[in-house]
Amino acid sequence: MSQVATVRGPVGIDGLGPTYMHEHIFTLTADVQQNYPQEWGSEEARVADAAGKLRALAAQGIATIVDPTVVGLGRYIPRIQRVAEQVPELNIIVATGLYTYDSVPFFFRHRGPALNEALGTEVPDPMVDMFVADIVEGIAGTGVKAAMLKCAIDEGGMTPGVERVMRAVAAAHHRTGAPVIVHTHPGARTGLEVKRVLCDAGGVEPRRVLLAHSGDTTDCDHLAALADAGFTLGMDRFGLNVETTFEARADTLVEMCRRGYAGSMVLSQDASCYLDWIDPAVLPFMAQWHYLHIGDEVLPYIRDRGVTDGEIATMLIENPRRFLETADSGGG
Ligand SMILES: [Zn+2]
Repeated sequence: MSQVATVRGPVGIDGLGPTYMHEHIFTLTADVQQNYPQEWGSEEARVADAAGKLRALAAQGIATIVDPTVVGLGRYIPRIQRVAEQVPELNIIVATGLYTYDSVPFFFRHRGPALNEALGTEVPDPMVDMFVADIVEGIAGTGVKAAMLKCAIDEGGMTPGVERVMRAVAAAHHRTGAPVIVHTHPGARTGLEVKRVLCDAGGVEPRRVLLAHSGDTTDCDHLAALADAGFTLGMDRFGLNVETTFEARADTLVEMCRRGYAGSMVLSQDASCYLDWIDPAVLPFMAQWHYLHIGDEVLPYIRDRGVTDGEIATMLIENPRRFLETADSGGG
């Protein structure tokens, strides 16, 4: 049986169970945190808080989460290992890649393809070997292997930096077979740009690509076109009701199921136990944005509107299983 790498080691693909494909644990700005640790406070308390919140999620019946926190979002695997040890009933899958909406981090600015012109030759991007090593060998000596590749494109579209990362992700995908999750901005139709660079030019099959945040739009015709092209759609920000509403998100999911696309969607909340991007005084106004929102509020709402338990199982169990099944990834 094929296996998937998790924080606590490989798990049989059939053991994943109900899976949320996009939840963070800690989302933070690493160098700000290193210099201004006051808001973070006690490491022990943060780890205990995360373990408690994830235990409650597991108690709700979720067996696996994918945490696509990569460089740019403050990935720090030793801390995730401490959390995972305290919640053995939940599988935590981690990712490699790079998160930017515009330019590459300064670390990469004068390396790899940035030197092509000066050296008059194609210089390989060091990102590719870094991503591959995270999948094949493990991350930073922890022994924890990444099972997915992650990159991002937002409203600003295909900037040179975004395109460079996407090309590196495509190259790492071809060397490892790991599936790809892309942060997208569906209102700006960035899924089409992903198709152009990652798939048409980069040779990644759309069925190996999850277009995260597809549920941010209510344009079901656009979503259907992306699903018809083979992509998996992340209906993965339930509870983040900024610039949209609970009903708009949930009704889009209901309509896409009615049109027969349950086989193309995965569910999640994109929540975090701690996220330093938002003033802590504002977070109480985002009261539905937490790990338990889908189970408590979304599933009852969509069941009332005709989404079947079979369709829910397809979105929570079968689609993640199919997406994460990779014969030659670092999991087994
Ligand atoms: Zn996210």
